[in-house]
Amino acid sequence: METLTLDRENNMSILAFDVHGVLDTYSEFRSIAYNAAISKGVSVYIISGSLFNTEMQEELSSYNFYYDKYFSITQEILDYNPDLVTWKDGKPYAPDHIWDKMKSVICEREKVNILFDDSPCYGKYFKDISTTYVEVQNSHWKESGRICKSNIS
Ligand SMILES: [Mg+2]
Repeated sequence: METLTLDRENNMSILAFDVHGVLDTYSEFRSIAYNAAISKGVSVYIISGSLFNTEMQEELSSYNFYYDKYFSITQEILDYNPDLVTWKDGKPYAPDHIWDKMKSVICEREKVNILFDDSPCYGKYFKDISTTYVEVQNSHWKESGRICKSNIS
C-alpha cells in the first residue's frame, strides 16, 4: 500500500482539481474542495486545460467555493512557446506529448500532493513525481474531456 507524503516543510498539503469532468460533473468533488479550502493547512488549486478567462471565472464562481490558485495548461504552453498552441473552433490544441505532460509539470513545480482528474492520458506522467494522480472515472470523459489517442482502445 502506497503512503501519501504531505509537505511537512511548511506543514501544508495541496489538493488540486480538474474542472471539466470533475468539478463540473460531481458535486462530491466540489464539496471536498470547499471543505479542504476552509481547512487550516490545506490549499486548493485548480488545474484546467482552459485559460483563466471570463467564462472560466464565471463557471468557478457558480460553484460557490474557494480556491487558492488557478493553473492553465494552455497558458503554460503559451508562456513557453506560443507557436505550439493552435486554435480550432475556439478551443486550444498543442502536440499531445506536450499537452498531456503539462499537468504533471505544474504539479511537480507547485508541490501538489494530490490531483483529481478524469483524463487517462495524464496519469503516466505522474509515475516519477511526488504528486499522487487520482483518476476520476466517469462515463463522460470522452465527450467532455481530452481525447487520449494512446488510451483509446
Ligand atoms: Mg477533465
